[in-house]
Amino acid sequence: MSTKIGVVGGGTMGNGIAHVFAQAGHPTVLMDVNQAALDRARGMIEKNLGRQVKKEAISQADASATLDRIDFTTEVKAFEGAALVVEAIFESLDAKRDIYAKVDPVLGDDAILASNTSSISITQLASATSRADRFIGMHFMNPVPIMKLVEVIRGHVTSDATCNQVVEMASALGKIPVECNDYPGFVSNRILMPMINEAIFALHEGVATAEAIDQIMKLGMAHPMGPLALADFVGLDICLNILDVLYDGFRDPKYRACPLLRNLVAAGHLGRKSGQGFYSYA
Ligand code: NAD
Repeated sequence: MSTKIGVVGGGTMGNGIAHVFAQAGHPTVLMDVNQAALDRARGMIEKNLGRQVKKEAISQADASATLDRIDFTTEVKAFEGAALVVEAIFESLDAKRDIYAKVDPVLGDDAILASNTSSISITQLASATSRADRFIGMHFMNPVPIMKLVEVIRGHVTSDATCNQVVEMASALGKIPVECNDYPGFVSNRILMPMINEAIFALHEGVATAEAIDQIMKLGMAHPMGPLALADFVGLDICLNILDVLYDGFRDPKYRACPLLRNLVAAGHLGRKSGQGFYSYA
C-alpha cells in the first residue's frame, strides 16, 4: 500500500500538493485551520481533475478515486501514521514554527517533515522541530499539477537518507526533483528575483515600457512569460518579500529591491490577485 502523506495548508500550493500525492495513489490528509479554505481546496482539486479528464489525461474513475483518497480536515491528529508531511501555510517563520510545534509530536520517529517555503531558511525551520535531520525543503512550483520541478533543499543537518527518500517520492509523482543547499533564495528565487528586479529598474528608469521589456525577454530569450507579467503572476508583495530575504541574508546591495516595487506594494498594487500590478486585470 502507498504511504500516507500529510499536507498542512490548503491554499494555492497546498491543494496542488495534495492533488499530486493523491493522484499518485497515496492516502493524503489535507489539513487547514480554516474550513472555508478546505472547501475551496476541494473545489479547486475537483476543477483541476476535471480539466485533466477533459484533456483525456486521466479517466473520470481516476479523478474520483484521487478525490476519495484525500481526507480534508482541521485536525492535526489526522497526520498520525504519515510518512511525510509537507507544510504549505503562508510565508511566516513564526506561523510555521507554531504549526510544527503541533504537527511534530503527532508524527512517528521515522516521519519526514518538509516545508514548501519560497525563502525562509530550511535550517532555521528545522531547528524548531525535534527532527532536524528529517526536515527538508520541498519547493513545488505553481501550478503544482503542471510544473515538473521540485527544488529539494537540504538544511545544514538534513540526513542523506531523508534527502534520498524525498527525491524518490518526488520522482514517483512524475516530478523532477533537483537538489540544492540551504542559502537565501535557494537556486530558483536567487536567480529569478534579481532578474525580475532588474526588469522593474529598467521600467523605473524609463529604459522601455512594461510591454517592451516583457516582449524583449519573451522573444529574445525564449522565456514563456516576460519578467513583469511573471512578477504580477507571483504577486508583487511576494517578490518584494523574497528580495528582502536575499538582501538581508547576503548583506549585499545587489539584491536591493527597486523603489518602484516598494511603491506598488505600498499602494496595494500586488499584481493579478489585486487586479493591478504592472498590468491591469479588469
Ligand atoms: P496561501 O495563502 O494560498 O495558503 C495558505 C493556507 O494555509 C491558507 O489556506 C490558510 O488557511 C492555511 N493556514 C494558515 N495557517 C495555518 C495553520 N496554522 N495550520 C493549517 N493551515 C494554515 O499560501 P500559498 O501561496 O499556498 O503559499 C504556501 C507556501 O508555499 C508559502 O510558504 C509560500 O512561500 C510557498 N510557495 C508559494 C508559491 C506560490 O506561487 N503561491 C510558490 C512556491 C512556494
